[in-house]
Amino acid sequence: MFNKITLQLIIVALFCTLLLSQLSFVCGEENMEKKYIVHLTDRYCKACGICIGLCPKGVFTENYLGKAVIDHMDSCTGCKMCQFHCPDFCLEVAEA
Ligand code: SF4
Ligand code: SF4
Repeated sequence: MFNKITLQLIIVALFCTLLLSQLSFVCGEENMEKKYIVHLTDRYCKACGICIGLCPKGVFTENYLGKAVIDHMDSCTGCKMCQFHCPDFCLEVAEA
């Protein structure tokens, strides 16, 4: 039904598929997760606390003046809730 070359091509294709699946397993999904950087322009912050209250990952804490401080940058998922709701445009979220 198949000639010799077709069979060889099928075997090579199967081998490549297996190799690729093993590579993605070795790399792991965790290493491919996106990381984000939150830029905070401190001098515009009026200490309203909106970003602190809204962030689902607890990225922010407040300093002694009540201004937002980035404390757990690694937890950021890039949802941009803080950026969209900051009334003074202090926050910008970008992919690392
Ligand atoms: S939402 Fe903006 S102004 Fe309010 S605390 Fe956060 S950074 Fe400051
Ligand atoms: S982008 Fe989302 S997770 Fe990241 S700091 Fe802002 S609110 Fe928190």
